[in-house]
Amino acid sequence: MRGLRLKKGDTVIVRKGKDKGKTGKVLMIFPEKNRILVEKIHFVKEFIRPDRSKNVQGGIMEKEAPLSAANVMIYCSECEQGVRIQSKVLDDGTRVRACKKCGLTLEK
Ligand SMILES: [Zn+2]
Repeated sequence: MRGLRLKKGDTVIVRKGKDKGKTGKVLMIFPEKNRILVEKIHFVKEFIRPDRSKNVQGGIMEKEAPLSAANVMIYCSECEQGVRIQSKVLDDGTRVRACKKCGLTLEK
């Protein structure tokens, strides 16, 4: 992942796949795999094997799975769409990420 990209807690919008157009909060980042886990996005079915000794009933469970970071963009609440990030330096010298379109600071 290039620097100045996504962080935990960012709101992102999905650009590709069956969740296209959905927004969610980044829960986890896996930089080495270039994948991210996003709240309520990219559900996969997990088959649970029944296990009587552990009193597990078994069945199908849905849970979030990591998706490729390349398939999402950071979401700007001002532009109401996925936007590119630019770096902005505040008066006190802090470098923050901002929307390239409207300049809204994207740090929480
Ligand atoms: Zn914006």
